[in-house]
Amino acid sequence: MKAMVLEKQGELLRLVERQVPVAGPGQILVEVTACGVCRTDLHVVDGDLTEPKLPVVPGHEIIGRVRALGEGVTGFALGDRVGVPWLGATCGSCWFCRNGQENLCDHPGFTGYQIDGGYQDFTVADARYCFHVPPGLSDVEAAPLMCAGLIGYRSLRFAGHAERLGIYGFGAAAHIVAQIARHRGQQVYAFTRPGDRAAQEFALTQGCAWAGGSGDTPPVHLDAAIVFAPVGALVPLALRATRKGGTVVLGGIHMSDIPPMPYEILWGERVVRSVANLTRDDAREFLALAPRIPVRTTVVEMGLSEANEALARLRSGELTGAAVLVPGR
Ligand SMILES: [Zn+2]
Ligand SMILES: [Zn+2]
Repeated sequence: MKAMVLEKQGELLRLVERQVPVAGPGQILVEVTACGVCRTDLHVVDGDLTEPKLPVVPGHEIIGRVRALGEGVTGFALGDRVGVPWLGATCGSCWFCRNGQENLCDHPGFTGYQIDGGYQDFTVADARYCFHVPPGLSDVEAAPLMCAGLIGYRSLRFAGHAERLGIYGFGAAAHIVAQIARHRGQQVYAFTRPGDRAAQEFALTQGCAWAGGSGDTPPVHLDAAIVFAPVGALVPLALRATRKGGTVVLGGIHMSDIPPMPYEILWGERVVRSVANLTRDDAREFLALAPRIPVRTTVVEMGLSEANEALARLRSGELTGAAVLVPGR
């Protein structure tokens, strides 16, 4: 089988031939049919996230079919459509695992980071962290749900009861969140890179009430904002645009430094908080909700061997929606 492998951070992925992995106890063997390209993959490849196993196969928005069951696996049958997300393992015994916050586990394993991910023809995954994928979306369309959708959904939850919601950075996560928020009757204000007309147009097609550049003043005071762009300088901008008592949620796993800012823009019980990873409950809740809205994803389909190009296009901000790698394409 083919795999795109990161041997050293800061270098390009290399296409290699490998043996199809064998499902160990508790694992399923998954034939990958689609794998989304997430900004976190860029942080793994570029070295912003510093603890990968190396070599590693990136990719944690995996959709595939179950081709083998390891000893003791329950809940899946051969041929099932399955999704594999970022949270690939937890210890089950640390304080966080015991207190309903497995997303903060002290000894986690993340897919495409410490565990080989989906930039390959086949992968193995711990069945306890995998999910059945709702019908209604093709494999390629469903792939972005597995991280952009899940983390986006968790971010939206932490934004609280916001009638007017700002979103900074309008990529894969934002376009899914905008659909959910609109379904709930929220108005969404989209902030893109200054002058990025294409992203602003895209935001409007996803039901946003307004779209502008990150430095623009929106026509209303926001009740809450989510920052998906990995740019710390957006935090004071989002705070200034958000009313007293509102929350600014930081949805990315890595962000450039937040510049010094006057206390008065945080004053008034404004809250800044990060969102880390996901819990399996988030996934169950979101995957049940998505087809009821229904969430539609905008994807750019690329071949497995084009992974480096997909990452480069994500880095430069020229993608509309989400890039998805399709093995055998
Ligand atoms: Zn734990
Ligand atoms: Zn991700």
